[in-house]
Amino acid sequence: MRAFGTTIFAEMSALAVQTGSINLGQGFPDTDGPAAMLDRAIHAIGAGANQYPPGPGMPELRRAVSDHRAEHYGLAYDPDREVLVTVGATEAVAASVLALCEPGDEVIAFEPYYDSYAASIALAQARLVAVTLRPVAGRFTFDPAELRAAVTPRTRAILVNSPHNPTGTVFTREELTVIAELCRERDLVAITDEVYEHLTFDGVEHVPMATLPGMRERTVMISSAGKTFSVTGWKTGWVCAPAPLVRAVQTVKQFLTFTASAPWQLAVAYGLRQEMGWVSALRAGLQDKRDRLMEGLSAAGFEVLRPSGTYFVQTDIRPLGFADGLELTRRLPELAGVVAIPTQVFYDHAERGRHFVRFAFCKKDEVIDEAVTRLKRLSGS
Ligand code: PMP
Ligand code: GLN
Repeated sequence: MRAFGTTIFAEMSALAVQTGSINLGQGFPDTDGPAAMLDRAIHAIGAGANQYPPGPGMPELRRAVSDHRAEHYGLAYDPDREVLVTVGATEAVAASVLALCEPGDEVIAFEPYYDSYAASIALAQARLVAVTLRPVAGRFTFDPAELRAAVTPRTRAILVNSPHNPTGTVFTREELTVIAELCRERDLVAITDEVYEHLTFDGVEHVPMATLPGMRERTVMISSAGKTFSVTGWKTGWVCAPAPLVRAVQTVKQFLTFTASAPWQLAVAYGLRQEMGWVSALRAGLQDKRDRLMEGLSAAGFEVLRPSGTYFVQTDIRPLGFADGLELTRRLPELAGVVAIPTQVFYDHAERGRHFVRFAFCKKDEVIDEAVTRLKRLSGS
């Protein structure tokens, strides 16, 4: 694992603290989740939910997840056999890849990809095959022919992250259909990272892969409370999949962490049942923040790509006279007192992402405004 070093999020958040810069790098909100849900966690601790929960997760949360899937997506998952609570989506992805891949197997992921994918695939001694998302008319998408050509007899799974970090693309039903057809034809599992499932904008709808024809039986669907309820520090996620797949993932999960923390599970169960209205307001608020940051970044001289979901905006730095995002983000604290994430670190073909930098907008308006004021120094505007 030496090659993996320190994650870009840890590096850039440390740089922000060290330099006193505004942190628009690592994606975490600077406001709290729904108050009643936070109270539930405190209450759960007081009421004695402090010992190991069952390995698959607390029944209250598994039932709430199952009901939420049915209500929002029309998907039926048996809470006892088809839902597994994990330590965030990160563990869910790792346990899924470790469970489903043999050494030498190939896993397709769309680059730029969330950094833990490459590490999880390496832990499984499998191989990540990257299919590149490129901006077409201002939106990152893939070439179906390129995806098709990436499948080999060793391909075991496709990791699909939609809404997609770091590009903000929400895959359309057409794009998902291309992926689904390939999964069915070539007998592949879809591991779907849907942590931003509720954070979509402009009326764009998140379509879960498992709702496509023939896909429920071959999809490992992953979610997390972190993004849905602005509690990224709770590290509470879950997997929904057919029983044999969940069993395989749980076999691995039990030796990674055995189970997930108890108080958060009870609070998240409450959140899924009672706080989806709060989540709708969060989504609307985030859309305004997206617009605010996009406008500011444009005024500061960046070329800005409009995301349909997530916390993140991609910018092209070339109009400002910069060519290398890694170099720029390492200097950005000194140049402007702001921290951002160089997108190129999420590519196998780094040169394809060299000129992109990611900014997070899940921050208070005044923080966004101050960051924009500072970034205007880059062009002297
Ligand atoms: N997948 C994606 C695409 C993410 O952006 C993140 C970061 N929140 C995760 C997974 C990890 O989620 P968690 O904090 O629940 O482990
Ligand atoms: N998901 C967050 C992001 O993309 C970071 C999570 C982490 O620090 N590993 O910014």
